[in-house]
Amino acid sequence: MRIYNSLTRKIEDFVPNEPGKVSMYTCGPTVYHYAHIGNLRTYICEDVLEKILRFSGYDVKRVMNITDVGHLASDADTGEDKMLKGAKREHKSVMEIASFYTDAFFSDCAKLNIRTPDIVEPATNLIPEFIHMVEALLEKGYAYKAGDNIYFDTSRLKEYYVFGNQNEEELMVGVRDDVSEDINKRNKNDFVLWFTKSKFEDQALKWESPWGVGYPGWHIECSCIGMKHLGDRMDIHCGGIDNMFPHHTNEIAQSEAYLGHKWCNYWFHVHHLNDETGKMSKSKGEFLTVSLLESKGYDPMVYRMFALQSHYRKPLTFSYDTLDQTAATYKKLKNRVLSVKADGQADEAEVKDWHDKFAQAVGNDCNTAMGITLLYDVLKSDLNGATKLKIIEDYETVLSLNLLKEDKKEETDDELTAYIEEKISERTQAKKDKDFAKADAIRDELKAKGIVIKDTREGVTWSRE
Ligand code: AMP
Ligand code: ZN
Repeated sequence: MRIYNSLTRKIEDFVPNEPGKVSMYTCGPTVYHYAHIGNLRTYICEDVLEKILRFSGYDVKRVMNITDVGHLASDADTGEDKMLKGAKREHKSVMEIASFYTDAFFSDCAKLNIRTPDIVEPATNLIPEFIHMVEALLEKGYAYKAGDNIYFDTSRLKEYYVFGNQNEEELMVGVRDDVSEDINKRNKNDFVLWFTKSKFEDQALKWESPWGVGYPGWHIECSCIGMKHLGDRMDIHCGGIDNMFPHHTNEIAQSEAYLGHKWCNYWFHVHHLNDETGKMSKSKGEFLTVSLLESKGYDPMVYRMFALQSHYRKPLTFSYDTLDQTAATYKKLKNRVLSVKADGQADEAEVKDWHDKFAQAVGNDCNTAMGITLLYDVLKSDLNGATKLKIIEDYETVLSLNLLKEDKKEETDDELTAYIEEKISERTQAKKDKDFAKADAIRDELKAKGIVIKDTREGVTWSRE
């Protein structure tokens, strides 16, 4: 398995801390609104990374946080609190907003076949742990109190810009809507660990702390949640490219200052989905959600395929034209897969061979497009049907495109068949009971649904009108 590491800016061989095991952390959503399909591109790619690791034989433990407190409109601790913004918009409480959009997020993930991480932890669950880490950072001299807030002192670090890029203008993707300089900060990049006094007097969620009633800064949650569930060293940490700075840079700063050693070995960043006018956002243009795509007639699997056809380290531009092309490709591919008959016996040696080929293809820095190409190779090959199906089933544990799943229409057909058969046996019984009126009524009921039944010597048959 090879993977691009944002820390070294190189594709590296993946070596976990513990042989055969992978600890993986994903920055979860801020649950103040629906996820847009850009956010979901990131989660699809992270899902694929997890599944590739499992496909390659690793035992993966994956953790995700849910940001339900502390994320201000600008990633640099300024602007309005996102959760409060959502609550005001919908005249609900912050916790109602958090619960509603957490459910909405996982429902979108389910539609896109994104596996729920092994552990999902809302930030508000771990306030005592956050306070403990802030206290430790104060004790070690990595934090200071100013204007009644607690800040991390970035000047104490040998290296703050761990991702190498010192060009802040380029890095500060999430900080552009910065509204005002915080005069309490000693250094420009210092960040808030704990707010006790700020301009947000109406902050909804507040907790007692040694520094007064307040609430945590955004970054602390990922360090604490990660350490609680994965220990002091983790293998892979994931997020969208905009998380690299300041969020991940600050996570590393505080975690390594706290631990006194390296925290995470591999940093995995997914590039953005853009619309034709630029970066996708929740406040600009059409708010592209999975439900919106569904309402326009797209199967969510088409969007998953759209994401898998491109490489996660390249920006991807969304347009309905490209999505239409993907929809046509997806339909053709699925029809081809569904037309494979399970004839013969699966050739296990071939299945293993093709498994290894796929592991190598997608294991090369998540080359999912290559994985899909291999799937076409399987279909084109002269392997027997049973072998092809077994290989495709194997590939589907990573791709998760529902290629082997009959469409809903067929499921409805199954339901209809069961219903007709039940009615036929009811009618047979009615005839045996000499209740001919009932028997006729059942026949008429079926006829009204376009189903014609015929009594033959072999029994009752039915057909569509
Ligand atoms: P948020 O809910 O805003 O915290 O974002 C959730 C995830 O989506 C984070 O990992 C972001 O980095 C990622 N993200 C935000 N915008 C985009 C985008 N346009 N394309 C891909 N990922 C994004
Ligand atoms: Zn995070």
